[in-house]
Formats: sequence, C-alpha cells, structure tokens
Amino acid sequence: MAGVAAGERTGQNRKHIGVVGGGIAGLTAALRFAQAGQRVTLWERSDRLGGQAAAFPVDGAHLEYFYHHLFQSDREIVALIEELGIADHLMWLPSNVGYFADGRIYPLNGALDLLRLRFIPLIDRVRIGLVTAYLQRVRRWEKFERITADAWLRRALGQRAYDRTLGAQLRAKFGRYYDQVAMVWFWGKIWLRTTSRRSPLDNEKLGYIRGSFNVLIDALVECCRREGADLRTGSGPTALRQTDGECWTVVLDDRSEVHCDAVVVTTPSPILARLVPNLPEAYRAKLTGLTYEAAAVALLQLSRPLSAIYWLNVADPDVPFTGIIEHTNFVDPAEYGGKRFVYLSKYLEPDHPYFTLPEAELIETYLPYLKRINPDFDPSWIERWWVFRERSAQPIVTPNYREKLPEHRTPLANLYLANTSQIYPEDRGTNYSVRLGNRIAEMVLTDLAGGPAR
Ligand SMILES: Cc1cc2nc3c(=O)[nH]c(=O)nc-3n(C[C@H](O)[C@H](O)[C@H](O)COP(=O)(O)OP(=O)(O)OC[C@H]3O[C@@H](n4cnc5c(N)ncnc54)[C@H](O)[C@@H]3O)c2cc1C
Repeated sequence: MAGVAAGERTGQNRKHIGVVGGGIAGLTAALRFAQAGQRVTLWERSDRLGGQAAAFPVDGAHLEYFYHHLFQSDREIVALIEELGIADHLMWLPSNVGYFADGRIYPLNGALDLLRLRFIPLIDRVRIGLVTAYLQRVRRWEKFERITADAWLRRALGQRAYDRTLGAQLRAKFGRYYDQVAMVWFWGKIWLRTTSRRSPLDNEKLGYIRGSFNVLIDALVECCRREGADLRTGSGPTALRQTDGECWTVVLDDRSEVHCDAVVVTTPSPILARLVPNLPEAYRAKLTGLTYEAAAVALLQLSRPLSAIYWLNVADPDVPFTGIIEHTNFVDPAEYGGKRFVYLSKYLEPDHPYFTLPEAELIETYLPYLKRINPDFDPSWIERWWVFRERSAQPIVTPNYREKLPEHRTPLANLYLANTSQIYPEDRGTNYSVRLGNRIAEMVLTDLAGGPAR
C-alpha cells in the first residue's frame, strides 16, 4: 500500500487492530492491515460477512439481498477484483432503464428516449435534456453544496416538469426528507451515469460479478484469512473502552475482553455513539445528527418476465414501491436456471409502517400494483418471494454536508470511523466502501507508525 511499509509479522512493532463490521469497508481494511503484517481481529454481528452487498442462495445460484451493479467509474472495486484474481467474473452488460408514468413504461436510455416522454410537453422534455447536459459537464461540484436539489431543480426545470419527473423521483426516494437533499448528491448521480458511458451517444454499460457479489466477498474473506486476519461472525462489541489513553479494550457479548492498539468502526454512525459513551459531545452530535433512509425490498422469483426493462423508476405517488429492478433483464436468466428475479424497492424513513409490516402483508400491499406495470401479470407467476430490510440504507446528504461529516479520526486516540455517511460527494456504493477501507487502513497504519501528530 502506498506510503506504508509492510510491518513485521512477529516482533514488537506488530500492533493489534480491531475492526468492527464485516461489510466491504471492514473487510477491505482488514485485508490491508493483514497485508501490512499487523494482527487483525474483525467482528461482524450478523452471521454472514459482506454487509449490504451480500448474496444468498437461490435455486442453485446466488443473488444479492439488495440489487447490485457497478458503474464504469468504479475504479477502486475493479482494482480490488483484479488484485483478488477474480477479474474473469466481472461482466459489463448493457443497462436498460425505464420510467413508469401515467400507466405506461417509457424507455429512458438516452436523449432520444427523453424526447419521447409524452406525458410532459415537448418544451419540458427539451428543458430536462438541456439541464441534464449541463449537469453532465459540471466538474466543480462545490457550487452545489449549499443548495437543495429541490430548490435548484425546481428553478432549472420549471415547476411542471420538476413535479412530473425529478421532483417526483426525489419524493419517491426520500419521502419527507425530499426537500432537504443537497444538489451535490443529485449531481453525483448524474455524474456516475455520465461516466458509465464512453460517449454521450453510447449505451450505458453496468458491471456485475458473475455468481453474485459473494464471489468478491468470499475472495476477500479467503485472502484476509490467508494473510492471518481473524474474522469472527455472530458476535460484536457491546462497548469500546479506552484503557491508558492510547489502547482499546473491546468488550464482547459474553463479557470477554480483547485488547487492541487501535479500533476501526465501519458500522452506521449511531452504533459508534452507543459503543463509546465517553466520546466528546461535539463529535457525538455529528454521529447522531446524520439521517439515514431505510430500505424495504421485496424479491420475487417469477416463472416469466414482468417487463423488458432492467431498472424501472416508478415515481407514481399511488404506487407503494419506487423502483422495479428486474435483475434477469440485466443478467441472463440462464444463470438462474431460466427463473426470473424482480426486486420491488422502496426507500423509506425507518419509522415508516412498511419498515415493520409483517413480510406477507408487505407483499400483499405491493402485488396489486404489478398489474399496472404489466396488465397480464398474474400472482400465479410468483414461485417464491422474500422481503429484506435495511435500516441504514442511504445516508441523506443535506446542504453543507462537508461541515457535518464526522472525521475518520475520532477525538479519542486510535479510534477511527469509516462508514457510508463519510462518502462524499459521491453517492454511497460498494466502490466507495473499498476506497474507505483502503483509506482508513493507510491512515491507521501511518498513525501507528508515528505519523502526523493528532
Ligand atoms: C437497496 C440497496 C441497493 C444498493 N445497490 C447498490 C448497487 O447497485 N451498487 C453498489 O455499489 N452499491 C449498492 N448499495 C450500497 C452498498 O451495498 C453499500 O454502500 C456497501 O455495501 C456498504 O458497505 P460497508 O462495509 O461500508 O457497510 P455495511 O455493508 O453496512 O457493513 C457494515 C457491517 O457492520 C455490521 N455491524 C453493525 N453493527 C455491528 C456491531 N455492533 N458489531 C459488529 N458488526 C456490526 C453490519 O451487520 C454490516 O455487516 C446498495 C445498498 C442498498 C441498501
């Protein structure tokens, strides 16, 4: 790793580093620590590693709990995939995006499709095209940090076009927080999609790991263990206590204690606030002041396709989900024995009733609306279904977010935070969790080697 000499595998220079959380960020950090010759223990509270990107077995294959793909700009994760020797699993496949409005599906894969969005007047379509083209060219995103997407887009598009398109999507994704999202977050989304095309006229290609993101997670786990990292699942710390102003005691569920020279926490921010009660107030306020959107996702295994679209944005306020991601319109259904897999996605506030609704009731709530997407749809097409929920699915990036972000180095020596809320200005994603893991490892190793004064 740049700037950090590999440590001794034995001897007094070897430090013990604790990592809390076994998602992509925690696993990447653990790998870098182990590669640098340090002793590493990682605790993951759930019984599986991989966090939000993990997959589970379906019909002889594996599929993510939550739909996943990569963008062509996702360089850090591609570099990791190559380093781990699994690049032959990485596929770049044409994406196929649509927009559901006024009871029909509009393909939305480029400028020409935009001009065909007949549910809004031509002048509005042209205006949206011009605004998108402008945003695609903006490099200096700092100018979008202090204004909300709601205010900026409403002005740029005009009320009518905004309400029927991007405003409707913001409302669908962020619920009551829709008018608090910073324009820089929206710019980041446009930017990602722009850089996923080689030229503006090119069709977008998205990445997927053949066999699921578990192929990456398994390779990471195997490499971590080969390098000597101790990865533990099914347990996590109940408290982190600073022992002599420098070292840390990790208190586990069974009250046993493990001593570490440094601890990196990769869980959502409120968990760090709970684990370390004596955090200085200003930093604690940053941890608890950020808001996350949750996600409630239904996954259907169907005997036939629902639509011809991979990613269908649904910004119709009457429909209870906001995205239909038909995975097998992206990855060949032959990979899944010909079965079709469709995610019905909804981002919501964690106090939204859907977040706690019994699973069968959530499915029953969603099903009647599938006939609107495809009038031929019949519930008999459903062979199996699952419901998955995630409390900290999407950090909400508000204006002046940079000033609100908790720093990686907490005010307590040798205690670090590396989580999705610190990804900025880009939107969170597996690529940026790899970047987080790389960055935090470099920072910790530099500090432990007597780097910059704290
Ligand atoms: C619906 C949805 C769709 C997504 N789609 C995409 C996509 O298409 N492409 C993409 O790149 N990204 C996507 N993402 C985002 C991506 O999955 C995440 O940004 C990334 O996986 C986060 O990794 P992480 O390691 O930073 O955090 P997490 O994956 O959240 O890992 C944190 C880990 O900490 C563990 N933990 C929590 N508390 C404790 C504790 N007390 N002790 C020990 N462990 C604990 C958790 O169980 C978890 O495993 C999506 C996410 C969601 C929810």
